[in-house]
Amino acid sequence: MAECIVLGAGMVGVGAALALQQRGNSVVLADRRAPGEETSYGNAGIIQVEAVEPYAFPRSPGEIVSAALGLNDQVRWRAGSIHRWALPLTQYFIHSSPENHRRISAVYSRMIRRAGSDHAPLIEAAGAQAIVRRDGFRQVHRTQRSFEEAARDAERIAREYGVGTDIESADQLAASEPNLRRRLAGAVRWTEAWSCSDPGGLVAAYAKLFSARGGSVMRADAYSLVRAGKGWRIDGPEGVVEAENAIVALGPWSGEFLRRFGYRVPLFFKRGYHRHYQGKGPDLPMIDADKGAVVSPMKAGLRLLTGAELTWLESSPSMHQARHVRRAVGELFELGDPVEARPWYGNRPCMPGMLPVVGRAPRHQGLWLNFGHGHQGFTLGPTTGEMLARAMEGDGPLPAELQLMHVA
Ligand SMILES: Cc1cc2nc3c(=O)[nH]c(=O)nc-3n(C[C@H](O)[C@H](O)[C@H](O)COP(=O)(O)OP(=O)(O)OC[C@H]3O[C@@H](n4cnc5c(N)ncnc54)[C@H](O)[C@@H]3O)c2cc1C
Repeated sequence: MAECIVLGAGMVGVGAALALQQRGNSVVLADRRAPGEETSYGNAGIIQVEAVEPYAFPRSPGEIVSAALGLNDQVRWRAGSIHRWALPLTQYFIHSSPENHRRISAVYSRMIRRAGSDHAPLIEAAGAQAIVRRDGFRQVHRTQRSFEEAARDAERIAREYGVGTDIESADQLAASEPNLRRRLAGAVRWTEAWSCSDPGGLVAAYAKLFSARGGSVMRADAYSLVRAGKGWRIDGPEGVVEAENAIVALGPWSGEFLRRFGYRVPLFFKRGYHRHYQGKGPDLPMIDADKGAVVSPMKAGLRLLTGAELTWLESSPSMHQARHVRRAVGELFELGDPVEARPWYGNRPCMPGMLPVVGRAPRHQGLWLNFGHGHQGFTLGPTTGEMLARAMEGDGPLPAELQLMHVA
């Protein structure tokens, strides 16, 4: 009998499986697909050790109205979805008050700031150095006003949290990114962040490391999980596995899955789209802050990514933001032809309190939770995996804020 079954082989599940294994547990990692093929595949690939403050709900009336009226391409609502989000968004709004956001950022920043040192030994052991760069990324600004505001904010972040930044003038930016077709006001370079040119490949490399260290990866549907004595059993085409503990790391699918155990989880989704292009882009990943677009150089091509679309998990894709991003980034770089026929999309699994859910399921012995990593799950997978593994051994408490209060 294994000690742990981890359900879900995205960055979060693989991170947890490796951390549990490191502590001497025998672990089975179960997914209906191969590791790293869902949300952890399609992101911008940035290991965001600078993202010390999670994205707050906009508080200014202007921003709220423009998002509500669909005038804002960075955050959009899908008509028909608002009734689903009324409760989580109200909670999100409350948690985003300046005082609550400061308290949450104190917890978040401690996790984010250790993420690089949690990834580093795994990158090394997995032999994945060639797909990870440690040169940061750029947040560029088109107008002088937004650049000056961003520079002030970056200086505050640097002062309060010790995060490394470089403020680059228009000339410095043009010299560093010679493929830029147009002059911009300037950039904040977040110097400590890392970027990965194949995010799904990094998760797959971590899963391979887990197997090489004696772990098993199995294909199975999480919905086959049932009680077996005091533990759990899961059933897949390759056989049946029993374990003392089951860990739910199903990313955006975690809330729906937990309903069958009687839990209500206020997960909501910020969908993002990406598409690769064949042209010449930036040297480092670039956030076009004024347009809410991201462009990341990847093995597969230039990956253009959108902001957030508030929608539900199964809704059909809308091309609005992908078109907007194509137009915006096309003003900056010669994009060439798209690589794929259609954009990819995936759903950032977000909790109203902006912190992931990490810990024991309140009413089921041996059931553990690890999901809701929102905008930074690619960064935080190894970190929350280690925190969960430690908590499962009773080796120190988890920060109380890690959200279990929202799982009812
Ligand atoms: C456009 C975009 C850009 C982003 N950029 C960044 C970034 O630059 N940096 C960053 O840190 N984060 C980024 N993120 C966020 C990050 O990608 C997510 O937070 C993270 O991937 C979540 O990981 P996960 O393992 O929880 O979920 P997933 O990667 O989705 O893994 C969940 C797994 O569960 C499996 N599963 C689901 N249902 C079942 C079932 N019934 N049975 C078996 N298996 C099942 C799935 O197959 C999947 O493998 C971005 C997200 C998006 C959408």
